[in-house]
Amino acid sequence: MTNLSEIKTFSKPLVANLNKLDVNTTQALLLHLPLRYIDETHMTSVRDLRVGEPSQVEGEIVHAEVTYKPRKALIARLEDASGQLTLRFLHFYPSQISALKVGNKLRVYGEVRSGFFGNEMVHPTCKAVGEKTMVAETLTPVYPTVAGLTQVNLRKAIATALKQNVLNETLPVSVYQQYQFPSFSASLKALHNPPPDADLQGLEEKTTPEWQRLAFDELLAQQLSMRKHYARRRSVDAPQFKQSKQLVSALLKSLPFALTQAQQKVAVEIQNDLTQPHPMQRLLQGDVGSGKTIVACMAALQSIESGWQVALMAPTEILAEQHFRKMIGWLTPLNIKIAWHTGSQSKKDREAAMQIIADGSAQLVIGTHALFQEAVQFKKLGLAIIDEQHRFGVHQRLALRQKGQPEPHQLMMTATPIPRTLSMSYYADLDVSVIDELPPGRTPIVTKLVSDVRRDEILQRVREACAQGNQAYWVCPLIEESEALQLATANDTYALMQSEFPELKIGLVHGRMKPAEKQAVMAAFSAGETQLLVATTVIEVGVDVPNASLMVIEHAERMGLSQLHQLRGRVGRGAAKSTCILLYQNKLSETARARLKVIYESNDGFAIAQADLNLRGPGEYLGTRQSGVPMLKIADLNRDADLLNAAKNMADRLIKEHPSAVEQHLERWMGRADELVKV
Ligand code: ADP
Ligand code: MG
Repeated sequence: MTNLSEIKTFSKPLVANLNKLDVNTTQALLLHLPLRYIDETHMTSVRDLRVGEPSQVEGEIVHAEVTYKPRKALIARLEDASGQLTLRFLHFYPSQISALKVGNKLRVYGEVRSGFFGNEMVHPTCKAVGEKTMVAETLTPVYPTVAGLTQVNLRKAIATALKQNVLNETLPVSVYQQYQFPSFSASLKALHNPPPDADLQGLEEKTTPEWQRLAFDELLAQQLSMRKHYARRRSVDAPQFKQSKQLVSALLKSLPFALTQAQQKVAVEIQNDLTQPHPMQRLLQGDVGSGKTIVACMAALQSIESGWQVALMAPTEILAEQHFRKMIGWLTPLNIKIAWHTGSQSKKDREAAMQIIADGSAQLVIGTHALFQEAVQFKKLGLAIIDEQHRFGVHQRLALRQKGQPEPHQLMMTATPIPRTLSMSYYADLDVSVIDELPPGRTPIVTKLVSDVRRDEILQRVREACAQGNQAYWVCPLIEESEALQLATANDTYALMQSEFPELKIGLVHGRMKPAEKQAVMAAFSAGETQLLVATTVIEVGVDVPNASLMVIEHAERMGLSQLHQLRGRVGRGAAKSTCILLYQNKLSETARARLKVIYESNDGFAIAQADLNLRGPGEYLGTRQSGVPMLKIADLNRDADLLNAAKNMADRLIKEHPSAVEQHLERWMGRADELVKV
């Protein structure tokens, strides 16, 4: 791998600009692939131009002027043997005025539009031509670039690299020929300089054999690296738990309900993992309200019965607090000692908690992200449970894992299901269990989309629901830009509700309250002492108050899909028929409309997750979980689902039959990023 600064013909500023693009080596430069192509290989006569098509025309300037009405513009007319074409520039430099002088011969490239005076091009690229200027022999690539680095210079740099160093092949010939793929170097050459008769549409859609070869390589590298992580996990030690003989069955006997089939199935999967001498890393997936907590509790008991501590981490204090209460209810009858640790604890409480965590007398420790901080020392951590895992970053979960020796088992839970292509790719290093049914007796939630102008009707609904003994949430608008504003809005809404409903007891909960206050408010709502809870999105995850059957979400158009689905999941937890009303402000953007349509039409977390992925793309969708983990740049999981399958199979074969190819291939595609241990 050659460092760019070693290439003599590359100037310092060029190298600096390439570095800004994250391109530091010839290898990276050659893998800096075109965004799209322009076809300058042939000329079109003015007469044959078609509206909407990018075209290249050559001719002479016969007229040029700067006009000021309706606004400043440089307008020129270019003539060839067949007719005239208008060129229009709304922003321009003095140099362009002189380039477009009458009598100059130019070659212009741009998209044809139909204008007032016939066909025109707005902001075409222009090139002066002499007698002997040649027409391009290959399609012209257009690369992603940065300010200060022109396409022309970038193309030259890549051409130099192509001449110097064509990258070696990492895969055995038989492997890529099996899919009729070209070799790696042939693919690169063709993508940087496609021949004039290349399939332009295929190139742009990345479906030509050359693009597919590279997409396959990238997916294969991802599979191989996942396999490596998986293998690492199988090679390290973890505490081996026995099956629980007493605690789990005692817990189950004390419950007012029986486990669903789906809960039983996943409980067995987890229980088996925990009897293995290697660390479990299992993702427990189940829609909101499917009953993941009890399953986690069973796993905790297995660990505790075998003499190992358990940590249960939740992303918000409200949720951690709720788990704490629930676990106290379930586990104190079994004589289990539970500790509580969050960032906002008093010094005295914190020290007491640290003490019993460190001396091992706390068997279960519940808390927020404070749990993975330096100061927290477990005596014997055997299992880490992470609720709502998508809310934590890779590094946070990694830190918790490092709190045990040997490596503790990990159970991650999420209500945001992972679409199949993602679980086969980004999540392929984890084992997955799915709770695919809800406990019986739940009535489906009715979702309504209501314009904000009909607010009064909605207030009336709230009044009626509460008068009938039900409880309601009123969720304040999300104001991402400013926490202060968010707080102000919550306070305003609360005041408004109080004046609107003098007969009701109303609570308010938001992120800036002291934990004890939050607790008190939630406890009062939970106990039915307050009927209406005005809340910010702090209640988004996990909160469980079965008697609440109406939820109003203000400015629903500002929220993301999984957020809306989670919020809506706060109702429909009891037997009462539940309603979720999404208030929106008119003048919806295209994407907001698409989101609201999805949430209105579907109650199925899986369908919503898939739609969310389609709307946002994997980069944004994966969010924090993947921060620091290499994203796919070439392959597209939707377009290349077949390649993903092929890569998955090939990964197995390569590991068995061509171990040296595995290393070379990983080195090329993953580089150092592969060393980032994943959780
Ligand atoms: P989530 O999967 O969203 O975390 P929870 O674990 O909070 O869901 O469970 C939702 C509610 O359903 C809780 O009140 C829980 O006690 C209850 N629950 C869990 N399992 C069952 C079951 N098998 N039958 C009836 N209720 C259940
Ligand atoms: Mg939960």
